[in-house]
Amino acid sequence: MESNQFSRFHEVYSEALSCYSAQMVDRVEPNTAFTSSPTKAVMCVAEETKLYQTESNQQQWVEVLVDCPGIQGLYTYYLPTDLIVNPGDIVSVPFGAQIIGGIAIRLCYTPPVDLELSRIRPIEDVITSGFFPQSYWQLLQQIAQYYCSDLMSVIRVALPPGLLGRSQRRIRLKLESIPPGAETFCSVVAGKILRLLQNQAEGDYSVNYLKNQIKGAIRGIRELNKRGWIESYLEPPRPIQAKLKTAVTLINDNFLLDLTSRQGEVLQILKNNGGEIWLTELIQLCRTTPATVKKLAQKGYVTLSEREILRKEQGIAQPQDIPKKLNQAQAKALASIQNLTGTAQILLHGVTGSGKTEVYLQAIAPILAAGKSALVLVPEIGLTPQLTDRFRARFGEQVCVYHSALSDGERYDTWRQMIQGEPQVVIGTRSAIFAPLPNLGLIVLDEEHDSSFKQTSPIPTYHARKVAQVRSQLENCPLILGSATPSLESWEQINHLPVENSEFYYLSLPERIQARSLPSIEIVDLREELNRGNRSIFSKSLQSALVQMKERGQQGILFIPRRGHSTFVSCRSCGYVVECPHCDVSLSYHYTHEGATPLLRCHYCNYVALQPKQCPECESPYLKFFGSGTQKVTQELNKLFPNLKCIRFDSDTTRTKGAHRQLLARFAAGEADILVGTQMLTKGLDVAGVTVVGVVAADGLLHRSDYRAGERAFQTLTQVAGRAGRGEETGRVIIQTYSPEHPVIKAVQEHDYVSFSNTELQQRAELNYPPYGNLILIKFSGVEEKQVQQTAEIVAERCINLLSSQTQILGPAPASIMRIARRYRWQILIKFATEEKEQLPDLNQLRSLCPQSVSMVIDVDPMNID
Ligand code: ADP
Ligand code: ZN
Ligand code: ZN
Repeated sequence: MESNQFSRFHEVYSEALSCYSAQMVDRVEPNTAFTSSPTKAVMCVAEETKLYQTESNQQQWVEVLVDCPGIQGLYTYYLPTDLIVNPGDIVSVPFGAQIIGGIAIRLCYTPPVDLELSRIRPIEDVITSGFFPQSYWQLLQQIAQYYCSDLMSVIRVALPPGLLGRSQRRIRLKLESIPPGAETFCSVVAGKILRLLQNQAEGDYSVNYLKNQIKGAIRGIRELNKRGWIESYLEPPRPIQAKLKTAVTLINDNFLLDLTSRQGEVLQILKNNGGEIWLTELIQLCRTTPATVKKLAQKGYVTLSEREILRKEQGIAQPQDIPKKLNQAQAKALASIQNLTGTAQILLHGVTGSGKTEVYLQAIAPILAAGKSALVLVPEIGLTPQLTDRFRARFGEQVCVYHSALSDGERYDTWRQMIQGEPQVVIGTRSAIFAPLPNLGLIVLDEEHDSSFKQTSPIPTYHARKVAQVRSQLENCPLILGSATPSLESWEQINHLPVENSEFYYLSLPERIQARSLPSIEIVDLREELNRGNRSIFSKSLQSALVQMKERGQQGILFIPRRGHSTFVSCRSCGYVVECPHCDVSLSYHYTHEGATPLLRCHYCNYVALQPKQCPECESPYLKFFGSGTQKVTQELNKLFPNLKCIRFDSDTTRTKGAHRQLLARFAAGEADILVGTQMLTKGLDVAGVTVVGVVAADGLLHRSDYRAGERAFQTLTQVAGRAGRGEETGRVIIQTYSPEHPVIKAVQEHDYVSFSNTELQQRAELNYPPYGNLILIKFSGVEEKQVQQTAEIVAERCINLLSSQTQILGPAPASIMRIARRYRWQILIKFATEEKEQLPDLNQLRSLCPQSVSMVIDVDPMNID
């Protein structure tokens, strides 16, 4: 019989269990109802007492997380006197007419106030004890509290849906423990169950079956369990079908004349991809058919093999890669990291291409060797394939990818595999910070400054860095924050260290690998360009750089900061701007291909309209397109340089699963000269052939009302510039702008992180903005304008009563885009000093003031306030 994952996990954890103490006792907070209303998050108080029912002699209630298809929530049950339950135990509970699995979350001495006691049902039994490490629940509770969220919402982010629902509870005999004549000294029901089990070949039945056969079976099962004659376990759901997938492997790379040119191309692409690839991927990559690939198999160039795949996302095995010999700065950084024991926070500040990833890899190797696991977080899925490949090349099958774009099945399988506790590296985006790795040795946040680590909605509005910090403390393991452009939060922390504080470390990699120089950065003043009569979106400099690049057979990147700078359509005669009927924003022009129907699209709600032939306002036929989106740039590029092949890389072209990977692979394989794209391009892309980076117009980044605009613009421009010159050839970066004198532009040009950050910090300090002051943004939205405004006013009123007079309450005010997707938006901004944080009341209580039809999101440490 296949060994069952739950019991294996149990074995790994038996040691941890022995010191496992129940600590989530809550004496104050009223409990939740039997209905699925969310439970309030309460900080747990660690206590050394075990929760033996008999000791306290007091009735206890248990909150159980029930999670089956269609039912998810926290429900309250009472604890029968003969059971001992600890938080984190897997229990079985009655739900309607069924018995289902659940996880015990908290024990309470007070019953829920709003629930009739007679309606509360008992926990049926404990199935597995200590399934989750105790620190895991502490993490979820602390995060719920910090982000003014209910526990259930945090659990929803952390656990995959339907975790227990598909498992079945079973009973099996422990033959060796059953004494002769056992039946004679147990109860009648127990005896009946014993006989049934003994008559089954493996002594194994589902609880449901036993209950159907024997009246009062549960009592009997519990008795047999107590006597140690049987054990109960959860049977993990069987994979519905083993999934098979076809891999294509190159077995002969001596390409002969028996190949058509098309077949030759396919083989070449296969070879460029390491000689092995999934059939489906190859077909997409080469735009070919299965028949072509089968022909290649017949000719003896490739083999096709069916492989069983776990539904965890995995690429093709990478060729084995060995640790690189570190340069001095890398070696110093690695040595410092390896010297750490217990919780610590390291800021690894390394310029782009300085070899941070190599340091992570070598820091992780000994952790795996010691039987522990590592968690590596990256900002966006677009860059995960490249990074994942590098980790796979080093650690092979021990690498596992986890992010919210996985299908439910993949998420579920990956998760089940993680909790078994085998040493592994989990690479993932934001939500992977909750990956339930039991034996965590290191957490890495790569590109820690990136705003995609912050969730803005739904609640909890957590930042993965904050969760990582809490986790590093709870699990007593180090946390590495890596970046070429650290967030001001992290920078401030390092700069104002009390000397004796040994939990924070600053490590720097000031040079690129092999002393390659950082790219030279040229600033082009677009106003002058226009004066000189150049009306193209490409300056003379950029044009000549592109020509030179092509001549030398190199590659380039064109970056368009899309936000706030997409193409909008306006009437030249009356100035009318075509707007979305549901949102207070203009529509963007979308060009797909030559001859396609011209469409206008809303980037907020995805509303699509035909482009009007004339102005809807004054009927003038003269409509003008402003701004440059990726489409327009690609179009202009094709016109100006028809021999440059380009790939568009933005949210339109990367919508389908795996599209990121394919586009990047094609670019890296030299299939195109230029990659044209938005924000996604700025991150982690490491293509040695790229020598030219052009920023089409930096202004969209510079002029924004948000107090973080400067910081973000500096980070984005520095990161995108850092894509150039990572190979042998030096890179060249051309930034076009109407504001060449802007301090951000100056700092980027001089690669001057330090003085830029220090100036920014000074300004933040003066205005009491983070990292000095703290912000909480309460956001309201709803269809009824009046109602949204009134709710915001009522909540603001309550805030004034709740919060100390030191706390600033700004608003309520309409959000800067007042309507999105027909919903009106209002907000309240709360600003307070760090010292006040401790005394802040639980703002989650404000939710009771909010009617059903208005949604309210509490955004703690918001990244955007406009
Ligand atoms: P970062 O993460 O700081 O941008 P990477 O780790 O991606 O830098 O390193 C940039 C390039 O240099 C990668 O191609 C990597 O393989 C290579 N590299 C890193 N460390 C070394 C080393 N010690 N010796 C040789 N090459 C290295
Ligand atoms: Zn008009
Ligand atoms: Zn819209």
